[in-house]
Amino acid sequence: MTDPFQHRGGALHAEGVPVARIAASVGTPFYVYSTAALVEQYRGFAAAFAGVDARIHYAMKANSNIAVLKTLADLGAGADVVSEGELRLALAAGVPPQRIVFSGVGKTDAELAFALNTGIYQINVESEPELEALSRVASGLGKTAPITIRVNPDVDPETHAKISTGYSGTKFGVPWTDAPRLYKKAAGLAGIDVVGVDVHIGSQLTKLEPFETAFRRVAGLIGKLRTLGLNIRRADLGGGLGIVYDSTNGAPPDPASYAAMVKRIFAPLNVQVMFEPGRYLVGNAGLLVGSVIYVKEADGKTFYIIDAAMNDLIRPSLYDAYHAMEPVKQPAAGAGLKPVDVAGPVCETGDLLAADRPLPPMAAGDLLAIRSGGAYAAVMASTYNARPLVPEVLVNGEEFAVVRRRPTYEEMSRLEALPPWLEPASGGRAKALP
Ligand SMILES: *Cc1c(COP(=O)(O)O)cnc(C)c1O
Repeated sequence: MTDPFQHRGGALHAEGVPVARIAASVGTPFYVYSTAALVEQYRGFAAAFAGVDARIHYAMKANSNIAVLKTLADLGAGADVVSEGELRLALAAGVPPQRIVFSGVGKTDAELAFALNTGIYQINVESEPELEALSRVASGLGKTAPITIRVNPDVDPETHAKISTGYSGTKFGVPWTDAPRLYKKAAGLAGIDVVGVDVHIGSQLTKLEPFETAFRRVAGLIGKLRTLGLNIRRADLGGGLGIVYDSTNGAPPDPASYAAMVKRIFAPLNVQVMFEPGRYLVGNAGLLVGSVIYVKEADGKTFYIIDAAMNDLIRPSLYDAYHAMEPVKQPAAGAGLKPVDVAGPVCETGDLLAADRPLPPMAAGDLLAIRSGGAYAAVMASTYNARPLVPEVLVNGEEFAVVRRRPTYEEMSRLEALPPWLEPASGGRAKALP
């Protein structure tokens, strides 16, 4: 990927916009996303499948900002959604229902009904009780649900345990050995149209082999289901392609070699192949930018205490994830690096964005750019410690726009109310927040 965040004249830019200018305009911390990077990643992935009956459904759980969604949808991307909320956002961003698939282990009756009423392209069923619920809901609405069953191919994706989904014993999908039985059952149920097989083995995969093992099992299953008389015409192969977080660590497979492997396996089957990339499309299209509040020396260690924290980027705490970092202002030549801990203000020892990270000298007020902030960053944010959600900014060439603003403190507390027994005599809130 062409790096959309490069130093020019000693200052980090997001495409044509100095990051410091965005900071001056919106305040820190903030996320910034590059349109050029989104376009390049989407087009690169799509080009790898040129001439193939392939569909790309962006897994919007990676970044569900409506401007990011619309940027991808305008290029032709569909959406993979995992909740009614995501489905509503996808529709609001203009993704047609015929380009939306619904995944997830715990879809409620209400969510299934909502999805069916939109005319959704496909529902990926993850269990027998879900299959029964969907049959009941669809029949009740007088509709037919186009479904796949997500199979668990029992493959170790060789990624972090918390983002591995395709080995036996996880909550995802149905064991692939049990799939034929469930498919036969599905074929006989009212309101169900079996259209394909679905698989998603995990996220941030850095090798092709686990994909290949899983896909061969799916291909074998499709053959078997066809001999049982099922009209299997789609293979939804999920997402999971990894990105570079640490450039010293080697690169994950590129879409071309991934596509070549997919074509080898699925071309003979004459199915529509479907993909649900999330991280690959958005991960390195974004930064999280914070400012140094204090440089703290303690016990012979140096801490950069910054205004961004684990509530803005939970990946280091949750997955021990590595995120590359650099000062927005290029350090003086020969400034040297020394190991520092980069921590946020949240009252948790785990609020550590980097440990012993070699970084140049920085001072209070300096801006720090944290890379790979486009995926599983803003979407996983919380307001822990009553910290406002961080604004999201989209850059396009020389332009930038705030695509989600920072809430006010008043907005943050608006949904809360005092129970009658705590209300002051005057009623209403005890005290408006300043
Ligand atoms: C999370 C998820 C994806 C996207 O995974 P990435 O690693 O971000 O590509 C795709 N499909 C399903 C079912 C998922 O749960």
